[in-house]
Amino acid sequence: MWRGASVILVGLLVTMGSETPAAAPEEPAPGAPAWAHAAREALESELVESHGEAQRIRARRGLEQVASFWRETDGDREVFEAFVRRHFAGDQETLNTMFERFEGLLEKLDGHMNEITLAFRWQSDLDLGPIRPFDEIFAGYEAAAHVTDDFFDNKLAFVVLLNFPLTTLQQRLTEGPDWSRRRWAEARLADRFSKRIPAEVQLEVARAGARAGQYIAQYNIWMHHLVDGDGGRLFPPKLRLLSHWNLRDELKASYGDSENGLAKQRTIQKVMERIVDQTIPEIVIDSPHVDWNPFTNEVTAAAVSDSDAPAPKGLEITNAREPDTRYDVILGNFQGQRKVDPWSPTAPTLIARRFDEDREIPEGRVKTMFETVLSSPLLKEVAQLVETRLGRPLEPFDIWYSGFRPRGTYTEAELDEIVTKRYPTPEAYEKDMPTLLEGLGFSKARAAELASAIAVDPARGSGHAWGAGMRASKSRLRTRVGPKGMDYKGYNIAVHEMGHNVEQNISMREVDHTLLQGVPNTAFTEALAFVFQARDLELLGLASPSAESRALQALDDFWGAAEIASVALVDMGVWHWMYEHPEATPAELREATMAVARDVWNTYWAPVIGTRDSLLLGVYSHMVARNLYLPDYPVGSLIAVQLEAQMAKAGDLGAEFTRMASYGRVVPDLWMENATRSPVSAEPLLASARKALARLQD
Ligand SMILES: [Zn+2]
Repeated sequence: MWRGASVILVGLLVTMGSETPAAAPEEPAPGAPAWAHAAREALESELVESHGEAQRIRARRGLEQVASFWRETDGDREVFEAFVRRHFAGDQETLNTMFERFEGLLEKLDGHMNEITLAFRWQSDLDLGPIRPFDEIFAGYEAAAHVTDDFFDNKLAFVVLLNFPLTTLQQRLTEGPDWSRRRWAEARLADRFSKRIPAEVQLEVARAGARAGQYIAQYNIWMHHLVDGDGGRLFPPKLRLLSHWNLRDELKASYGDSENGLAKQRTIQKVMERIVDQTIPEIVIDSPHVDWNPFTNEVTAAAVSDSDAPAPKGLEITNAREPDTRYDVILGNFQGQRKVDPWSPTAPTLIARRFDEDREIPEGRVKTMFETVLSSPLLKEVAQLVETRLGRPLEPFDIWYSGFRPRGTYTEAELDEIVTKRYPTPEAYEKDMPTLLEGLGFSKARAAELASAIAVDPARGSGHAWGAGMRASKSRLRTRVGPKGMDYKGYNIAVHEMGHNVEQNISMREVDHTLLQGVPNTAFTEALAFVFQARDLELLGLASPSAESRALQALDDFWGAAEIASVALVDMGVWHWMYEHPEATPAELREATMAVARDVWNTYWAPVIGTRDSLLLGVYSHMVARNLYLPDYPVGSLIAVQLEAQMAKAGDLGAEFTRMASYGRVVPDLWMENATRSPVSAEPLLASARKALARLQD
C-alpha cells in the first residue's frame, strides 16, 4: 500500500490537454462566452505586435487554452483582454522566472498541504490511544480539495494555461523522447490545469461513487446458509464473505481442503455466476435469515441461526431476483462520468481519462499486452500443469488456482520469533534501517543518507508509506508493532513500505525538477516496493528462496496476470459498450456484460480449460465501484516482473534503484526505456514463465 501527496492531490495532478488546434475543442466548452473567438483573434494580433512574430504560435495556443476554460463568471471580454495583456510572458526571461516561481511555490503548496493532512490524520492513523469524535472529522478534512478551483478563481491556473502548452498523450509519446527535462516539467505544470469540472458535476460523480461503494460494501453472502439438495452445509457458521474479494479468497483457500474443497469451490462459483446474471435472490444478500441453494435457486427460512440479529418481522420468503441493481449502480457511475466529459476536452471519456491521463499508456497498447499474455501458448502449458497437479479436469474457477504458491523453508512461527526478537519496537526497526538498506546493496554512506529521510511511526491499521510533498520533509513508514514486538507479517510489510519510502525520497529529492517528482503511476512504485519485499528473508540473514520456489512463484505470477488481464478486458469491453449505448437500461447492460464476459472467456480460457460461456470474469466488484481501475493490476504485474528482471541482470541493486527512481514522472514507456532499455512489455513475464516451466518439467 502506498499513500503520498500525489494521491491526496489527485484532482490536481492527473491530466493533460492539447497543443495542436485540431485537438483543442472545436465545440466551445459548455459555458464558454460567445465573444471568446473574436477576442482571441484580436489579442493574437496585438500580442504579436508587441512581442514579435516569433511569439505568434505561443500566443495563439495560450489564448486558445485560456478561452477554452474561461467562463462568463471569470469576467467579461474586457477582463479577459486585460488578463491576457498582463500575464502573457512575451520573452524567455519572463517565462523562465514564471516557470521557476510556479515550480518552487507549487512544491511548497503540495508539501504543506501534505503536512496538514498528515497532522490532521495523526491521531486516527497512528496507534496513539483513543480516537475522539472530532479526530474523525479532522481526519476526513481535505485541505487541498479546492486548490484547483481556487487557482481558477484567482486566475493562477489561467496564467499557466496562457503560457505553457497542454499536451496530448500522443504528443508525450511521440515528441516526449526528444523533449528537454524542462519541457517535461512544463508539460506536468500545464497538466495540473487541464480540467475545470464544475462543483455540481463533481458532486454528482461523488454521489454515484458513494452509492456504488455502499452497494459493494454490504454485498455479503452468509456462507453457512448455502445449502445443497439434502440441506447439507459446507461452510461454518457466521462466515460472512464479501463479494467478490472474500468469495474468491475462500475459493483459493479451498484448494487446501481435500475433503470438501471441490464442493465448496463449485458452490462459490455458482454464487458468483448468479451475481453476474442477477438471478441471485435479492433476499439472500447480506442476510442470515434465509437458506439458499444456489444450484436450484430455492430459498427457505433459515433452519439454523448463526447471527444475533433477529429476523425482520413479517419477512416474506421469496426468491425474486435482484432487480439488476448491480447494473443500475454501474450506469450511475457511467452517467456521472458522462457529465464530466464536456469539461475534459482533451480526454472526453472516462476511458481516455484512465488510459491517456492516469496510466499514460494508450488503451490499444495495453489491450495488446493483455492479449499477448492470454494468447501465449504458455497458457495451455501452464493449464496442463495445473491439471496434473490437481489430478482432475479443470473447471472455470481454476483461473484462481493457488497451488503454485511456494511453501517457505521456515514456518510462520519460526519467522515470528526471529523478527520479534530483532524488532521489539518501531524504534528498533528505524535504527536498523541503514543496515537493511546496506543489505539490499546501497553503500554505507548512501544507506545512512536514505534512512535519515524516513521516519518510522506506529500504525494503527496495516502498514503504509506516506511520501513527502516537498524536499524538506521526511517520508513516513507506518508499521504495526504489537505489544510483543513486530511479527513476520509486519516485517514483510515494513520492508515493502520501506521500498516505497526510498523511492519516494529519491524521486522527490534527487529528481532535477520537483514538477517531475514521483514515478509514472502507482504500478511503478508498487513494482519498486516489491523489489525490496522479495528480499526480506535475505535481510534477516536467512536463506533466500530456492530456485524451485522461485519457479513456482513465476508460474503463480503468470497465472495470476492472465486471470486479471482477462478480467480487465471485460471491464474495458463493458465501458466501450456503455459509451456506444449511452441510454442503455440496467437490463440491457446486464445482457451486454454477460456477452462480453462470455466472449473473453470463450476466446482465451475455454480453449485451455474446456468449458464454454463462463460468466466468472464479470464478478469483480471493481467493475461496479472503481470505474475502469482493473487494468492497473495486470499492467502492474507486467511492470513488476520487468523491473525485477532488470535488477537481476544489473546486479547492483542500490545503483539501479537510484537510477530508476530519480528519473521522475515522465510517461511509462519512456521511464521504462531509461530503466530497462525497453518500453513496458509483456515479454519479461512470458520469459520468466517459460523458464520456470522448463525448470519444473526437468
Ligand atoms: Zn505498496
